[in-house]
Formats: sequence, C-alpha cells, structure tokens
Amino acid sequence: VGAPLLIEAARLFDGRAVQPDARVLIEDGTIASVGQAPSEGVERVHFPDATILPGLIDAHVHLCFDAGPDPGATLAERDDAAALEQMAGAAEFALGAGVTTIRELGARGDLIFRLRPRIDSGAVEGPHILAAGRPLTIPLGHCYFLGGVAENEAELLALVRTEIERGADVIKIMATGGAMTPSSDPTRPQFAPETLRRAVDLAHQLGRPVAAHAHSRQGIHDAVAAGVETIEHGMFVGPDGARVHDEDLPLLVGSHTVLVPTLTPLANRVNIPGATGGPLAPDLAAADFWARRRTDVGRLYAAGVRMIAGSDCGVGLIQHDSVIDEISYLTAVGLSRSAALAAATAESADVLGLGLVAGRLAPGLRADVLVVDGDPLADLSALRRPLAVFKAGRRVR
Ligand SMILES: [Zn+2]
Repeated sequence: VGAPLLIEAARLFDGRAVQPDARVLIEDGTIASVGQAPSEGVERVHFPDATILPGLIDAHVHLCFDAGPDPGATLAERDDAAALEQMAGAAEFALGAGVTTIRELGARGDLIFRLRPRIDSGAVEGPHILAAGRPLTIPLGHCYFLGGVAENEAELLALVRTEIERGADVIKIMATGGAMTPSSDPTRPQFAPETLRRAVDLAHQLGRPVAAHAHSRQGIHDAVAAGVETIEHGMFVGPDGARVHDEDLPLLVGSHTVLVPTLTPLANRVNIPGATGGPLAPDLAAADFWARRRTDVGRLYAAGVRMIAGSDCGVGLIQHDSVIDEISYLTAVGLSRSAALAAATAESADVLGLGLVAGRLAPGLRADVLVVDGDPLADLSALRRPLAVFKAGRRVR
C-alpha cells in the first residue's frame, strides 16, 4: 500500500493466458498496469526465471478443521478460543502458500465471523474470506456438530437468515449426508426437494449464492433443480456406488450450477498404504476408486461441465495449502495446466462473484499477486516454490 511497486519476472499468467511482458505495477493496493514498461523512479522488484500469477483462490475450505487424522474429534475438544487460534494458524499458512482468497464453507458457530475481522484489521494474517458460517443440515446430519441444525423447514429458513445477518456471503447447505459424519447418510438427500428449493430461493432473495454439499445422485439432481450455484464433491452415489452414469452428463451442462469436485481428499488417499475408498467406496482400494473418479470427472468435464478448484482442506490430512494439489489433480482429469490454473484464479473468481475484484492480473483489480520459481505452465510443482505473495498490494511473503 502506498508507493508504487513494479514486479518483474520471466513470465506472467494473467488468470486465463500467458502475457508477453511479465510486469505488474501495484499502486495503493490495486493493480495499476500489466505489461507496461517501467517509468522512472518506480521501485522495482525483479524475479529471474519466475512466473507472476494471480493469488490463488480455494473455493472449498474449512479453517476450523485442523487437517489432522480426525479433525471432527479434535475440534470437539477445543473451546472457541482454541479453535480460533487454530483457524488463525491455518489462515496464515494458506496465505503464505499463495492462497489470497478462500471460500470458507463451514465452520463452528460464529467463529469465522470472529476470525474475519481480525484478518481484515491485520491482527491475524490470512486470505480474503468469503464465508458461509455454519453449514445448514438436519439433526445428526452431515456436520451437525458445527451447529447449523434445522429440525424443519421453518428452522432451515430461519438459519439462512441468521447466517446472512451474521455476515455470510454464501449459504452452505448439506444436501446429502457426508463421509465424515457417521450418523449421516451420504447416499441420501437430507431435505425434501421443495424444502431445499425454498431455502435456495430465500438465499437468492437476500442476494447470496448457495453451495450444496452433495454426494448422492438424487441429492445432486435436487440441488441443481433448486438452483444452487455450486455442487460440492458431486460423487453421484447411487445403489451401484459412486459413479457417473451417461444420463448424469447433461445435468449440469446448460444449468448455471458449477461443480467443485474436491478431488484432493480421495486422490491423496492413494498414497496411504492399504487405504480403501473410504465410506463412499469401502470395498475398493483408494487407487481403484481414484481411477474411477478421475475418469468420471473427466467425462463430466468433456461433456462441458464447468468446474473450479476447491480442496476441502482441513478435513483428514488435507493441509490448508492443498488447492495447489487440487490444481494438479484437475489436470489428471483432463484440464490443461492453463485451464486448471484458471480454475483456481480467473474462472473461480467469476463463479464466486469476484470477477471484478480478484483472480486476474488486470488494471483495477485488487493486487493479490503470487510469484513462483519456474514455470507452472510447464511444471505445476513450481506452485510449491512461492517467492513472493502480495495481498491487496502488501507483501506478506
Ligand atoms: Zn467440505
């Protein structure tokens, strides 16, 4: 913030494409120009053999889960002060890795609305946060322990209002059960279709998009019919297990609903010796379930389904910088490296309603800038070598 700063490197990816002149001028927290020759007297910082790109966006984050082996149990042992401290650490870690914006899709109670002002004031380092607050669920339903439990439709609608009053930018609804909540059923919808629709309608009336956690095929269909903006996970679980059928392919195409396939938790399990597919595919080895999932998501992408990068970080063993892994896994299902990078920058910003603010290197946008060693368009491991991170023009790494 303040004096203009010119960042120069070998390459520049603007969120959609590579641009020829790798220069970004930052002024007063904003991108003043991209690619323009330096003017006299401007402070310059030069990174040889590096790439400038927009700060990364993770569209599916849980700061209050600690990425340990059993985040639900660990959170249950923490009081609010301890949970807040853990969340602050996760936020700082993410920012240091180059994640300058997160969509926080479910924290306990009002904790995210207590953390966010501390980040905004600079008391805690962390990314810009789009917050959902508590995910909305049913008694003993997925993530009921975070507090967003509705006994009936009236309570569900009241919770939509309450989260928005507390500061929610997006409403998170658990349209089906989930793998980390044994008392919930991932194979079934949690709400009647008309109840889901009324909750989505109310959120929309109040100007907020809706993210629907959905594993079961029926739950996914209900959520798309209700008009949600994003389907989280989208495992298409039916009587024959988690698999995409041909008739599922056109479902999201032509709707305004975007898929956040959260590939990382399953894909990472492949590295755990003896791991199974988990609660959604207990009879499969993790590697076999991941092979099927990779093919399924690839078919959805080839059919024209729009998708963005969300890591589900915080859940078991998924660290809070995992959107970097998610970008790689998106290339494993068929996205080009450029498209996968866009899914965590420009494309994500557009889907999340931030297209005029973040996700691209363009004049007038917030100066959220990442510089990495090497060329991520040739080798995505470059994203693991951040050289500098700027949040709204302020260098934080
Ligand atoms: Zn999640």
